[in-house]
Amino acid sequence: MFRCIVCHGERSREEEVEMVLKVNGRHVKVEGVPATVCRRCGEPSFSAETTERTRLLVHGQGRVARTDPLPVYEFASAPAFSPAPSL
Ligand SMILES: [Zn+2]
Repeated sequence: MFRCIVCHGERSREEEVEMVLKVNGRHVKVEGVPATVCRRCGEPSFSAETTERTRLLVHGQGRVARTDPLPVYEFASAPAFSPAPSL
């Protein structure tokens, strides 16, 4: 039975998700990864087979479908958080 490792929610659904991984110091994205996603908090979990196939894919046994440069943000430039909603 499903039990979320983050929120202990017990309801899930099967989805295809994106993963961003760091491989040899560079980020790569894998799309269409089958995952079991927590319905409450959205945390994805992956089967051992999916994890292993993803590892093989990004370590040279797969083909890059396309290159998608990621915008990079520095957290230090984030706006200040104001707890009161601005209405
Ligand atoms: Zn959860």
